[in-house]
Amino acid sequence: MSVERSICPDIYHPAIARDGLLTRLRTPGGVLNTVQCQTIAELLATIGLEYIQVTNRANLQLRSLAQDLDRDLLTQLAACGLAGKNTAVDGIRNVMLSPTAGIDAGEIIDVRPLANAWLEYLDLHPELGELSNKFSVGFDGGGSVSIIDRPNDLTLLAISDSPLERLRQREFSLHLGIGERGTAPQSVGVNLTTDECLPMLAAIAQTYRRGIEIIGGDPRRKPRLRDVIHYYGLAEFGELVRREIGGYSHFIFKNQCVDRSSVRVNSDRHLGVQQQRQQGRYYLGVVLLLGRLTGAQIEGLGSIAARYGSGNIRLTHWQNVIIPDVRAIDLQTVWGLVSDLGLVQTATHPSSLLIACAGVTGCQYSATDTQADAIALSKYLSAQFTFDRPLNIHFSGCAKSCAQHNLADITLWGEVETSTGLGKYRLEIGGGRAEVELESSDLLPPERVPIAVSKAIATYYQHKLDPQSSFPGFANRQRADKQLASKPKH
Ligand code: SF4
Repeated sequence: MSVERSICPDIYHPAIARDGLLTRLRTPGGVLNTVQCQTIAELLATIGLEYIQVTNRANLQLRSLAQDLDRDLLTQLAACGLAGKNTAVDGIRNVMLSPTAGIDAGEIIDVRPLANAWLEYLDLHPELGELSNKFSVGFDGGGSVSIIDRPNDLTLLAISDSPLERLRQREFSLHLGIGERGTAPQSVGVNLTTDECLPMLAAIAQTYRRGIEIIGGDPRRKPRLRDVIHYYGLAEFGELVRREIGGYSHFIFKNQCVDRSSVRVNSDRHLGVQQQRQQGRYYLGVVLLLGRLTGAQIEGLGSIAARYGSGNIRLTHWQNVIIPDVRAIDLQTVWGLVSDLGLVQTATHPSSLLIACAGVTGCQYSATDTQADAIALSKYLSAQFTFDRPLNIHFSGCAKSCAQHNLADITLWGEVETSTGLGKYRLEIGGGRAEVELESSDLLPPERVPIAVSKAIATYYQHKLDPQSSFPGFANRQRADKQLASKPKH
């Protein structure tokens, strides 16, 4: 079978990376059933890989493949729903839901039916295979575990659940990725009833597709939705969408000028034991180190879910896993079984929100071995600190920031030092929010990263006055205090 190489791979179109072939299994909504868990464990054994990795879009990724997956393996994956039925649109089954959709105690709307309707629409519309594989759609039910800060191209955010007002009020707010790369999508002033969501999504996708045809360019680097919107301008793009939908005349796309720094969600709410909206049921958020799952672990989690949950696990875009629908009486047992798999469940473990891009072993642009350096940091921090809150620490091997630094408390940017030609790190606090360097502006050799990060964390713990003070908020205050102290006194 001839396989077309892609920059953003899907299961049918792997990409070439430094360490071999790279392929991704789309797991819409991050849900995996027991059969899928077993199939993945068998796949890993067949192809001789130690682990599969959960991505920051809650998909699964295989690296270092020596060759393409053969037809039998692809058929097996498709048969259990791990590959799209329609090979043309497998890459855009990029559907992100809150990992607690349908079980979140604070949720406004269970978005799973809407997400399924969108996936069915994709299966019936192979022409949408012309969209970039990076086209990403998010559904946020408005619960306590939100995805609104994730840099999706498009997110529908539930905004009302009042049964009395439902007939009069819109239920979803439309957010589009029109800001800088890597930032959260912004409201464009359009609210939708549930029934209007699918026509709107379809109209945006079709308008995007026509825009790609007009803009053209390298077919391997298709324009993102953002590029097409910028090409037309938001108002004109909205007008084209409106025409595509027909009937609904009230949609006018407007830039809402949102303060980007305000988009921040509690990313640790999904970890540990959490009560569900269903009486007497709990979910357990399990920490994975850099999203890695061995065959034994994924099979084990699937078995635990089958025995003590509802037969599903959920991958999260923080590269962790949730086991839903556990009864109170079984929590202790499940906790023990998860520990037996070598996994932890505490939100405050240094690995809980640790993210690293592919790094030098997998990406030609990387200056540093981000994955190995992140693992070294995690080990060092576990020995040094007991955290009272999780910290988002991101490693990016270059300025492209696949590790989504804007969401981080601490970012380590890889860069090649001009004078030595060596790959080192620049330490940044606050993911572009605070831009304070607590240590120094020098580049850090990888072996000094654990000490430098520890110093920054120790400073935070020693000096934060408010227990609720976030890391970036604290760093900003430090900077303001320093600036105040350096002002001449009159
Ligand atoms: S951030 Fe840079 S080095 Fe890391 S995976 Fe992305 S492009 Fe490669």
